[in-house]
Amino acid sequence: MKIMTVDEWISRWKPNERFPDCLSCGSTNTKEHHFSQTWCRGKKKFESETICCECHMWSWRSYADPDFLSPEEYDKLKWEKMVQENATRLKDARVEDAAAESVAAA
Ligand SMILES: [Zn+2]
Repeated sequence: MKIMTVDEWISRWKPNERFPDCLSCGSTNTKEHHFSQTWCRGKKKFESETICCECHMWSWRSYADPDFLSPEEYDKLKWEKMVQENATRLKDARVEDAAAESVAAA
């Protein structure tokens, strides 16, 4: 089996047009290995990994809106809030029961 050079390996990758510059040497001759972008309820998050064709160093970039929540995190928060609200409602109901009992006892 022929061993590929880095240049051969990355030759099919496309450049990232928005962030082409290498974080190590500043060259814009880079290829993108990984890119993912997630939108969740109007909030955005992305990750990008490029390799430099000049110095073969990786550049990793990621960005997330300050209050970005992944769908999983959003569901977890929603669930916790619901549980908390239910707990509060149960407590109120118990207070009402107690009040009703003390009225009945009087
Ligand atoms: Zn470089």
